[in-house]
Amino acid sequence: MKNIYLLPGDGIGQEIMAEAVKVLDWMQSRGLVSLRMSEGLIGGTAYDRTGTPLPEATVSAAKSADAVLLGAVGGTQWEALDYSVRPERGLLGIRKALDLYCNLRPAQVFPQLANASTLKPEVVSGIDIMVVRELSSGIYFGEPRGVETLPDGRQKGLNSLVYYTDEIQRVARRAFEIARKRQKRLCSVDKANVLECTELWRKTVIAMAPDYPDVALSHMYVDNAAMQLIRNPRQFDVILTTNMFGDILSDEASMLTGSIGMLPSASLGDQSALYEPIHGSAPDIAGQGVANPLAMILSVAMMFRYTLDQPALAERIERAVHLVLDAGVRTADIWEPGMTKVGTAAMGDAVVAALTA
Ligand code: NAD
Repeated sequence: MKNIYLLPGDGIGQEIMAEAVKVLDWMQSRGLVSLRMSEGLIGGTAYDRTGTPLPEATVSAAKSADAVLLGAVGGTQWEALDYSVRPERGLLGIRKALDLYCNLRPAQVFPQLANASTLKPEVVSGIDIMVVRELSSGIYFGEPRGVETLPDGRQKGLNSLVYYTDEIQRVARRAFEIARKRQKRLCSVDKANVLECTELWRKTVIAMAPDYPDVALSHMYVDNAAMQLIRNPRQFDVILTTNMFGDILSDEASMLTGSIGMLPSASLGDQSALYEPIHGSAPDIAGQGVANPLAMILSVAMMFRYTLDQPALAERIERAVHLVLDAGVRTADIWEPGMTKVGTAAMGDAVVAALTA
């Protein structure tokens, strides 16, 4: 029996989570898995009910779960709140509390959606990139930080880029191991020519390479990586990088695919794992029943692969998504003339029906 903790969050998070649960219920009803599911609060919804975007009860339930499934957080109604209680603090907080140091963001082009990219189909077709981003350290967490007013009246803003060797090693180890199960090519991205901290990053990754003689390790400066992702994205298999560079590059890589509603992610620690779509709470379409639930459903597939250790069930979900796309079923965000436009619930139902196929 595995404990799965559901955090639908805000906006379309609620709607897409319901579709993920349909897939999990189907798996349960067929006796393919044994799951205990419970649900909690995070983000703006949690703030409204408890005064904090990350209640203590959420942290403790998440810590004791085998995996957390998260919808999305945020919304315009919470934008005026103090930074410390904004919905997004809930997300950063839970990643830190669970020590989720390794973020996996696959960027894959579905052949059925190759026209959705803003790049030419011949550049993007066949892309299969896994961005491994360090998630719990680096400049987003480094101290000292803040804004202070100086005696002369000027203000000074400060953030610190800090990495310790063990923090680099643990995420690099994951990246090497993932590369091993894929095309065995790992590109570590840094700015070692300018930032001493990322020079340490590069040296640390190089020192680990002898443990993985079957993986071809290369290095790239982040500015070049940003260019190469657009110029020739197929050169990449696994990209390993720091928290901030990974934030930016994984968004860039995902946009090669052209469809934000299709992209899942996993955030892994040594004890915990959290799975969520890469998109936000989409306040512009929330409550309308039109959101694409496929990124959420594909996040469930990642959970089957990385936490439940059931790669065959992960593939089954992924195949069901392909079948639905092959059949021309589309939510509004990926719709093209000639296709069948459906809402969130109908898309979830179509995936469940395709699971049986
Ligand atoms: P967003 O990802 O919510 O939306 C960007 C655009 O993509 C919108 O037009 C939206 O309608 C569309 N979109 C996103 N997901 C979709 C889906 N599944 N189906 C169809 N269309 C979809 O990003 P944003 O508008 O910049 O941010 C909205 C809120 O979400 C903000 O409060 C932001 O802080 C938050 N956010 C949260 C997360 C997260 O929870 N992980 C990530 C990014 C943004």
